[in-house]
This record gives sequence, C-alpha cells and structure tokens, in this order.
Amino acid sequence: MTMDDLTCVVTGASRGIGRAIAEELGAEGANVVVNYRSSEGKAYEVAEAIEEGPGSAVPIQADVSEMAEVETMAERTREAFGPADVLVNNAGLTIDKKFENMDREDWDTVMDVNLGGVFNNTNAYFEDLCASDQGRLINISSVVGQQGNYGQANYATTKSGMFGFTRTIALEMAASGSTANCVSPGFVATDMLETVPERVKEKILDRIPLNRFATPDDVAGIVQFLASENSSYMTGQILAVNGGMEW
Ligand code: NAP
Repeated sequence: MTMDDLTCVVTGASRGIGRAIAEELGAEGANVVVNYRSSEGKAYEVAEAIEEGPGSAVPIQADVSEMAEVETMAERTREAFGPADVLVNNAGLTIDKKFENMDREDWDTVMDVNLGGVFNNTNAYFEDLCASDQGRLINISSVVGQQGNYGQANYATTKSGMFGFTRTIALEMAASGSTANCVSPGFVATDMLETVPERVKEKILDRIPLNRFATPDDVAGIVQFLASENSSYMTGQILAVNGGMEW
C-alpha cells in the first residue's frame, strides 16, 4: 500500500516528532509539506531527505498561530501539490511553570500555538480534506492531556482540548467519508523533553512500564497508519502511544 498520490501537510516538521512523521510519509511516496516556524535549515534538510526517496517535499515557513500565514501556506500547498489529503496538526510548544507563577501571557502563548494553530490549519485545509477520497485529519495530543502534569496547566489544557475538537470534527467530517483522529504520545525523546530537568525525567521513566522514552519513529509509524487507507473505518479515536502508562 503506497501513498504516492497523497498530499500531506505536517506542521512543525523541522524537528522531533513532526520531522519523523514527514520523513515516514515521504518514505511511503507522499508529497509532503514540511512546515516550520524558525528552523529553516533543518526544514530544508528534512525536505532534501524526503526528495532522496520516493516522496516529494516542499518546506513552507508559517507560524501556525497566525491565520494569514497559514492561509498563505495552504495556497502554496495547492500550487505545489494540489489540495491536501492529510493534515497532521503537530506543531506545539511548552512554557512550564507552576500555576501560581504562570501569567496570562504564558497561558495565551501556549493556547495560540497549540490550539489556535489547530484551528487555523484545520480551517485552512478543511474543504480539501473533505473533498479528498482519503481525507485524514490527525492531531498530535499528549498523555499530559489525559493525566495532567505538574507545571503544565497551560499545555495540558491545550492537549485535553484536542480530544473534544477531534471527536467533534470527526462527526462533522463523517458525511464526506473523511476521518479525524488523535494520537496521544507519552514522553518522546525530542528537544521538548530536553527542557525537563533530569531528576523529573527519572521520575517519569519510573512510571513507564516499557521503561524507555518513545522515539519520534514510535509515533510516526502510528501516524502513517492513520494516514493510510488501512485506517479508513476509524474516526474520532484517541490512540495512546505511551509505553503502557495508565490514564
Ligand atoms: P519539538 O522537538 O520542540 O519540535 C517542535 C516543532 O514545532 C518544531 O518543528 C517547531 O518549529 C514547531 N513549532 C513550534 N511552534 C510553532 C509555530 N508557532 N508555528 C509552526 N511551527 C511551530 O517538539 P516535539 O517533541 O517534536 O513535539 C511535537 C508535538 O508532539 C507537539 O505538539 C507536542 O506537544 C507533542 N508531544 C510531544 C511529546 C514529547 O515528549 N516530546 C509528548 C507528547 C506530545 P521550529 O523548529 O521551526 O521552531
């Protein structure tokens, strides 16, 4: 089963999980939009790596929290590859603080990127996804949205919010035959995890039955499945990829 004719947009694809997803979809032959905000060199490296295999890729800069930039990205996507079939809402950030130290700007910044970005991209690509024969909306949430996590009130709220959004959009997309699902990773070895202090990481590891952090590829394989024809009867679901953590 290949993805040769699919146009796949991956937000935040310059690094970490997004990069692994973009490369996995590219390896299946897809046309991939490698979105980034500031890591231009890395985004170009990802696109070049995809072009060396069966896939095609174009790096496109856009801050997902800015609707006008996302709309421009959607237009550039259609010029490069035609309408999108698959949108992976992956871009995200953390600003970790105990709630008593968190100010409104810390809250709003995380909301604007993690949930505002999901709104902007889903809005800009919605008609494409509904018109596609294999339309797939895939949102990258987190186990933190299920369990909560000390120092992450803003981040956990955005990740919980994605569950309600996904289930609702799945209902609204269903008549078109397109699907919406959520992937909920545990703790994944990326730059984001590097911001967590070592002693906290040791405590997290104690809570993971498989006794290791996920690799970005652990998540990318599940996203590839959701993007493929094989997932066509799944919608509105949350797939936990967390090494067996309870939630
Ligand atoms: P990461 O290594 O920090 O990479 C973040 C990516 O998002 C980068 O490509 C970055 O682009 C992009 N990005 C950030 N803000 C953006 C914006 N405003 N507009 C466009 N792109 C933006 O993070 P990660 O660990 O791969 O996380 C990816 C997703 O998985 C996030 O949604 C995160 O919440 C989720 N997740 C992560 C973990 C984990 O343990 N790492 C666990 C569960 C879920 P630039 O480099 O260009 O700035």
